[in-house]
Amino acid sequence: MPHDRSAPPRVDWSASAAYLDFDGTLVDLAPRPEDVRLGTRERTLLQALTERCSGGVAILSGRDLENLRPHLDGLPVILSGSHGAQIDINGDPTLVPGAGVGIEAAFNVLKPFADANGLLIERKAAAIAVHYRAQPAMADEVTARIDSLAAGHPGLKPVHGKMVSELASKEYSKGTALIQLSNHPRFARRTPVAIGDDTTDEDMFRAARSVGGIGIKIGAGQTTANYRFDTRADMTRWLAETLEDC
Ligand SMILES: [Mg+2]
Repeated sequence: MPHDRSAPPRVDWSASAAYLDFDGTLVDLAPRPEDVRLGTRERTLLQALTERCSGGVAILSGRDLENLRPHLDGLPVILSGSHGAQIDINGDPTLVPGAGVGIEAAFNVLKPFADANGLLIERKAAAIAVHYRAQPAMADEVTARIDSLAAGHPGLKPVHGKMVSELASKEYSKGTALIQLSNHPRFARRTPVAIGDDTTDEDMFRAARSVGGIGIKIGAGQTTANYRFDTRADMTRWLAETLEDC
């Protein structure tokens, strides 16, 4: 696995499919998840990208579909939520079978803990997220609680992201969503290009590479991606350049 990562080359989108993370990739992270807004520039770029890829653009998020959808309203992109457990193709959302098992019981354990410590807890269709951006000193304790609950349930895994720890279905990830989507007519026979900024995106980087595509990481940290941008702004600039005058 290479350790140095450079910016990616120009991508020929007419032969590629884009798999994009949302928070930290298409929008800046905000103190509260509900505070983010897709910018005009990003919206314009997504529109152009979708045209260039003939519809082969998917947004893969840890957010619930219901939470993700309003941010991308009007854009002809495919959405996947809850870390790959939900995929929405043509307004027909599916919850992957088995996803969500054990979530209710874990939520009942975590809710009093979150409430007592001023943490934002989010119940998703197939995951629970505990956000500690407002209480950064709680990071270790939140992480330990999530790890412990995951260890006690065969169907759940811990997912630690930026200022958030989650319990999610073990069987599914952004990687399984990418593989599933890559067999869909809108994505088939197109080289996957996966772009994300967080640990949860590593699954889709690996999945993209396993089927001949590439992964692009935004920001610092160990990664299995082939390429890296230091900042979201750098990625946005590159994306705009790849969409120019073709
Ligand atoms: Mg992200």
